[in-house]
Amino acid sequence: MNSYIPYYSTNLRSPAVSFRQALLQGQAPDKGLYLPENIPTISREEIMALTGMDYYQIAYAISRKFLQGQLPDSDLLNIVKSAYDYQVPLEKIYDRKYVMRLDQGPTASFKDFAARMMGRLMQYYLNQDHSELLILTATSGDTGSAIANAFYGLDNIKVVVLFPEKEVTPRQRKQMTTLGRNIQIIGLQAKFDDCQTLVKQAFADPDLKNLPLSSANSINIGRLIPQIIYYFYAFIKLRSGNPDDEIIFSVPSGNFGDMMGGMLALRMGLPVSRFIIATNANNEFPLFVKTGKYQKIVPSLNCISSAMNVGHPSNLARMVALYRGSMDETGHISRLPDMARIRREIYAVSINDKQTRETIFNAYERYNLLLEPHGAVGWAGLQQFLQDNPELDDEERLLVSLETAHPAKFPEQIREILGFDPPLPPSLQGLEARPEQFDELPNEYEAFRNYLIKNYQK
Ligand SMILES: *Cc1c(COP(=O)(O)O)cnc(C)c1O
Repeated sequence: MNSYIPYYSTNLRSPAVSFRQALLQGQAPDKGLYLPENIPTISREEIMALTGMDYYQIAYAISRKFLQGQLPDSDLLNIVKSAYDYQVPLEKIYDRKYVMRLDQGPTASFKDFAARMMGRLMQYYLNQDHSELLILTATSGDTGSAIANAFYGLDNIKVVVLFPEKEVTPRQRKQMTTLGRNIQIIGLQAKFDDCQTLVKQAFADPDLKNLPLSSANSINIGRLIPQIIYYFYAFIKLRSGNPDDEIIFSVPSGNFGDMMGGMLALRMGLPVSRFIIATNANNEFPLFVKTGKYQKIVPSLNCISSAMNVGHPSNLARMVALYRGSMDETGHISRLPDMARIRREIYAVSINDKQTRETIFNAYERYNLLLEPHGAVGWAGLQQFLQDNPELDDEERLLVSLETAHPAKFPEQIREILGFDPPLPPSLQGLEARPEQFDELPNEYEAFRNYLIKNYQK
């Protein structure tokens, strides 16, 4: 009776599964990434009918299309209502150029949007099955705190976060280490990539097969669907009365999870005339769009927009699949995607640290617009796009740049460039005074395995 959308693996060697299975598994057994076999569509009339609605109501209308037959409507409505109890400001900069601030959640980055909905959906299904999960995740700063916060206090989910002690700001660390209860934080004297490697080894380790391990990073389809919603929200709030109105988004990108949310919105029928994909100096994707040749950057370059220091975006295989190409988990392309279509729909640009700093300075001087390094990459991308496409640079055109974190998460950089401390949002107040608790491990897999067995094996 209730039909549901099957989710297939981009490596095409695992069977298709339901949303529920894809969510709880994370990655497909063949190491591919799950995508819906058919992307549900939304008509212009349906979009119009969402005018004036609250964020959570739009979240309900959009996610319902992907989750049909997977949970009752009333349960989904409760989940989105409790997940999205904060503001999503759209700040007008000039004409119809806006910044959408995705930084008002409990950990002040856009990762709250995905983590809060995914956490609630996982808990919902685990309660039904009376089963448990042990989530392992590595973080370069924002994922760890968003996941820890979203899963904090749940009975049937335990979370272990590995973080590189030297690469995370004190404020980012405290957002994770002051929680406790079911959240365990481990610091390593290592790089983010090393943390990631230990987590991957644990997933593949037969000695740990008694532990109900799962992952919460952006390869999980449960993180992508929530990231479709704010693209709809922006258009619904900002569209003109003209029935042909369109929108252009600029998305500061690292692993392309945010951007995949946007691509899915476009395929559903949101009238996006172009996506600006702005990376930092890790420019493997802009080069690929330009030349048609893909080469990862190993090791990735260290830029001040640290959450985007990615030399091979983990969601790129999904993006290639959407354009009818095929890429495996190592980045090897066996079938080239439709490059002409990619170039029509996407403008890709790389912004270096010097440009990022200048953008933070100039945006503040000129527009009183306060940006942190990631949002500044997006805003610089938007400006570059308008310069390269003067025929599209008119007052009437609607452009929205995404600000993915609160400036107060990066006080050191803001102080250096603008000379003051960004004001703390309520979510970051009081952190300093709370006691911290975390363990430290050497950067060796044996030690990590023994830690997991000792603390989590029943
Ligand atoms: C994670 C993150 C990004 C990059 O998002 P992707 O989905 O990995 O492209 C950008 N900005 C901030 C602040 C982040 O935390």
